[in-house]
Amino acid sequence: MRSTNDATEARRDYAEAGGEPCVYLSFDDGPNPLCTPAILDVLAQHRTPATFCVIGAYAAGQPQLIQRMIAEGHEVANHTMTHPELAKCMLDEVEYEILTTNKVIGMACPGASV
Ligand SMILES: [Zn+2]
Repeated sequence: MRSTNDATEARRDYAEAGGEPCVYLSFDDGPNPLCTPAILDVLAQHRTPATFCVIGAYAAGQPQLIQRMIAEGHEVANHTMTHPELAKCMLDEVEYEILTTNKVIGMACPGASV
């Protein structure tokens, strides 16, 4: 769900783009070996960049999809290792969720900006 700040940023980006319509695409909770390749194919057909918010546990089993996302110019974002409700996690759990996912993405694509 978008926050008020996200909406404000989107309006600012719209104005900075000269008022041209602008849409940001993000895909959460992947990568999924069944649907992510099809999404990447459609984005490539339309030369459209997107952000993939990946779950580390899934990304660990699909390093080739992480590599493809980055190779094709998409942004890869950290969506935690197991997708817990972080507000209910202890600090060490939050650290594990974030840092381990960064490591998984880094192992798939060394030097990738997460
Ligand atoms: Zn999610």
